Amino acid sequence: MKKVIAIDGPSGAGKSTVARLLAEELGFQYLDTGALYRAVALNLVRMGLKEEASDEEISAGLKKTKVEFENGRVLLQGEDVSEEIRSPLAGHYASVFSARGPVRTYLLKTQRDAAVKADLVAEGRDMTTVVFPEAFKKFFLDASPEERARRRTDELMVKGFAVEQDRILKEIAERDARDSGRQLAPLRRADDAYYIDSTGLAKEEVFRRLLEFVKDAGEKSRLKYKQL
Ligand code: C5P
Repeated sequence: MKKVIAIDGPSGAGKSTVARLLAEELGFQYLDTGALYRAVALNLVRMGLKEEASDEEISAGLKKTKVEFENGRVLLQGEDVSEEIRSPLAGHYASVFSARGPVRTYLLKTQRDAAVKADLVAEGRDMTTVVFPEAFKKFFLDASPEERARRRTDELMVKGFAVEQDRILKEIAERDARDSGRQLAPLRRADDAYYIDSTGLAKEEVFRRLLEFVKDAGEKSRLKYKQL
């Protein structure tokens, strides 16, 4: 396995922005595992599978599913779905189907294979706990639900989706409960992950803190940030 920087955290905590910046800075590849779950879920929905589908039906669907990353784009069955997977509906189905065993097993190999080929900044819900427990550096990036809802609303509006912040806040609460409450690979803060609460922080500042920790400004800065 090459070097992996693993970042976990709830929906809208700003993981993808800082992970992308960090990957660029260090010359690592960026692995957006949420995009993989979103693309797989989109395919299962396109195949007509319902939320209550059996494991057998899901496994059969996965056998016919092909998800790839190519030059920063997400390809599903060869089709570029990079924009489509960002819809709130795709996010909902990703959260539902990602709780299912066959889906997690199917994507585990894809994610670990990525770390055989290149140094990675990998972000998601179980990077630090399940997929890359031996990661070189681990982070848990958090923010208050209100701040995450505000960021997510802005992000979706820029992408042209008609959304309301109150509704997004409700969806975020549901997503948090599902992602943290599921049996398989629930979102949780690993004991050895460096915790950052990004509420009220600009992304540049969050990036600076992550980079400092990666470059091992280490113990001293960890203590300093605990006092903030
Ligand atoms: O991060 P993003 O919002 O794109 O992820 C969509 C959904 O995919 C999450 O709500 C979560 O349920 C699931 N996911 C997961 N494990 C990961 C990444 C995402 O279960 N490593």
